[in-house]
Amino acid sequence: MELDKMDENDWKYHGEGNKSLVVSHVQHSRVLRLLKYPSEDAENAHQTTEQAFQHIRNIVDYNKNVMKPLLGEKYVHSGEVVKLPLEFVRQLSLKVQQERPELRCDKVMDTFSGCGLCLPNLTQLSPCHFGDHRPPLCVEIKPKCGFLPFSRYVTKECKRKVCRFCMHQHFKLANGKWNRLSRYCPLDLFSGSKQRMYVAIKHLLEEPQNNLKIFKGGELIYSCNDDAKQQPDLNELVQHLRPYFHHCISLYNGHQSSKAIFSELIQLIGSALLSSGDSKRSVEPRKAESRQFCEASPLHRDPLRSVTGSHGLPRDCVLSKILQVQMLDNLDIDGLYPLYKRVEQYLEEFPKERNRLQIDGPYDESFLEKVKTCPSEDDGSIEYAVGKVLQYRIAMTAKDCSVMITFAPCGQDEKLQPNLVIQPAKHCFTYSVSILDLDPKPSDSIPHQYKLDSKIVNYYLRSTNTSQ
Ligand code: ATP
Ligand code: MG
Ligand code: ZN
Ligand code: MG
Repeated sequence: MELDKMDENDWKYHGEGNKSLVVSHVQHSRVLRLLKYPSEDAENAHQTTEQAFQHIRNIVDYNKNVMKPLLGEKYVHSGEVVKLPLEFVRQLSLKVQQERPELRCDKVMDTFSGCGLCLPNLTQLSPCHFGDHRPPLCVEIKPKCGFLPFSRYVTKECKRKVCRFCMHQHFKLANGKWNRLSRYCPLDLFSGSKQRMYVAIKHLLEEPQNNLKIFKGGELIYSCNDDAKQQPDLNELVQHLRPYFHHCISLYNGHQSSKAIFSELIQLIGSALLSSGDSKRSVEPRKAESRQFCEASPLHRDPLRSVTGSHGLPRDCVLSKILQVQMLDNLDIDGLYPLYKRVEQYLEEFPKERNRLQIDGPYDESFLEKVKTCPSEDDGSIEYAVGKVLQYRIAMTAKDCSVMITFAPCGQDEKLQPNLVIQPAKHCFTYSVSILDLDPKPSDSIPHQYKLDSKIVNYYLRSTNTSQ
């Protein structure tokens, strides 16, 4: 990529989240991730170029030196900071504006700093996939928090029974964020039980909200509708999938084949999530570890519950990696908040300590060392409080990340003997799994987290008429 010859016509709108907008290159398998600001701040929020550059460098360092060692080399791509010509960024911003979903337009793209993050396009599969004519499929899942808090500081009993995602759904529905409850429960996805995962993925497909997107050849083909009242069209998705699942179609017809295709897709996603990252490695034997149930999950009262039990996740699979990092939050916000206050108080007294304690980075090896060597019990020290705050922030990143699973057909299924055509899906696809959106979460979002948590819990208790 020649930075002085950037042309906005080579790039197109790819997607966005709350913090950044992403454009993809029309030919090369690359994306640019640009920061966004609330539009009312646009006039004065533009940081100096130096600040924006530092901000993105922090993201890269955090990815490379903190999240990569914790989540595993093979899953994390840290990217590189790029300095783009301002004219290019301005033209790009105009070009993408009409493609942006309305619900995201409360923020504007940063057109002042010219800084961006260049990453591989994870919706594409880099090594050539055996010359198959079908473009790769990519499923993006934002799984959210996969465990129930186990901290002794948790005061509201319901937090030990109902997971945060399920409680938050009620709050979001009441606030008009979504029009329908999602039946997805992260505890089912993270259970490691094939049946529970199947149901969780099915619920994600039925109501994707911002937790599931599907791309084909790098183009978004399935996600929540911009008009949130309208449900996304599963039949249309099945039409897209048909060419990838010939073996299902030959067996059934009509409605039956749609169901079979849908089911194959779910199984494919499930096995990629349980694999050790790429199809070349085999699935490890399972650990028999007991896992939790969320009382709000549709599976809670399901007869399946007693049949399937829990299996736990294979150690190296992407979900297990994410879950381990999420569990660095072992005090819960209830136990963490007083420690956050301890740190704040200390810094008020000794402002210069902020640097030594690496509260806002730099995100280097010694930052990770502080996180790893944090005492396990509160010895009253500032190091303990800082260590726990840093661990909590890393866990927040892992609760907010996305998993990208990119599949490409091997092209073998057509060449197989007719009696071998019905191959399990895993033989017909090569795939790769990555984790993205691993930004550091700022310390000063902790008071907000604390308040939000109690709002969500209280609202849940009121709306479901439960006491405690
Ligand atoms: P959130 O609101 O979830 O925190 P964000 O603003 O931090 O999101 P990202 O999640 O990093 O932004 O990016 C927004 C979207 O752009 C992603 O959901 C994904 O669909 C797409 N995207 C981001 N990075 C890549 C990549 N490297 N390859 C392909 N697509 C990407
Ligand atoms: Mg995201
Ligand atoms: Zn739940
Ligand atoms: Mg993010």
